[in-house]
Amino acid sequence: MKILVTGGAGFIGSAVVRHILENTDHSVVNLDKLTYAGNTESIPLSLHSARYVFEQVDICDSVELDRVFSEQQPDLIMHLAAESHVDRSIDGPGEFIQTNLVGTYTLLEAARKYWAALPDTRKAAFRFHHISTDEVYGDLPHPDEVSEGEALPLFTETTSYAPSSPYSASKAGSDHLVRAWQRTYGLPTIVTNCSNNYGPYHFPEKLVPHIILNALAGKPLPVYGDGSQIRDWLYVEDHARALVKVVTQGEVGVTYNIGGHNEKRNLEVVHILCDLLEALVPEKPAGVSAYRDLITFVKDRPGHDVRYAIDASKMTRELAWNPEETFETGMKKTVQWYLDNKDWWQRVLNGEYQLDRLGK
Ligand code: NAD
Repeated sequence: MKILVTGGAGFIGSAVVRHILENTDHSVVNLDKLTYAGNTESIPLSLHSARYVFEQVDICDSVELDRVFSEQQPDLIMHLAAESHVDRSIDGPGEFIQTNLVGTYTLLEAARKYWAALPDTRKAAFRFHHISTDEVYGDLPHPDEVSEGEALPLFTETTSYAPSSPYSASKAGSDHLVRAWQRTYGLPTIVTNCSNNYGPYHFPEKLVPHIILNALAGKPLPVYGDGSQIRDWLYVEDHARALVKVVTQGEVGVTYNIGGHNEKRNLEVVHILCDLLEALVPEKPAGVSAYRDLITFVKDRPGHDVRYAIDASKMTRELAWNPEETFETGMKKTVQWYLDNKDWWQRVLNGEYQLDRLGK
């Protein structure tokens, strides 16, 4: 089968592409605009694979989407392309509305036209898998606010949408569009909502790589507010495996929540990273006696959600998926990856990848 992956040069998209090339016989068309977050060097295998094609295309460009569908003839679509960083959405929501809403609408329309003209067997097997976030559900009560003995709620597939940030609102809107295209036009769509991912090839603006790289450089480790916000963490390769399972075996019109059963306070995550670095890189930058000493509390993010936690039991029940990494094993692998792959992140941090790509 040929799978068209949008956003396949991003953090999760590249993990999906690597997973498909390494562990399946499927072919991949990676359709990506290559914004600041896209990086084709995150897919080293692609250089040697005859099953991989790259198309530098904006999902808002319907003419280019029609060309790619017609030339590449994909069997399945996995839609990950998005603006994804909450802080950027607060500073400038326009790009988020454009890519996440207008882009998803444009892609849905191109996919619908292409799907409607497919022969019957290919039409029946076609899937449009929309990859979304648990942030569309808003936030959950913090354990500190819940009385003793009271059960802590989790996000399920039927939790009402209540997004807090421009990012999560734009993703919520895109989820609604995808479901409407299934209900109204019969486009065979599936939606997944996942918790926070971490792992290799993560753009250094996000919490985990930001903390690792700042610590290695002896720079302050910024923590929002008091660091008590809780996120539910999933190793990115476990997510990629779940997504390929969903697009190939999931049921049309259905939503699946994906999560790692790893609720951690942000401050706890930073402490764990500091402790791993103490063990793996005991020789610290000049003037630093303990990585934890670099922790600096900064003004909280406006509208900061207090807790996310996913009930992923449907994935286990219906698709026999479970995460393979625990938080401890996944975080250790992640820190080790950043230590072993300095070239990748230095080229990103120095802007060298973008300059080379643009031929400057
Ligand atoms: P990312 O920012 O690392 O990557 C996004 C990719 O999309 C980049 O390669 C970028 O170049 C591409 N892109 C952006 N705008 C585009 C456009 N207009 N046309 C074509 N390509 C475009 O994001 P990520 O963290 O890999 O997230 C991927 C998807 O998974 C997103 O839809 C996000 O909402 C969702 N998600 C992310 C997380 C997480 O923890 N990172 C959790 C759950 C869900």
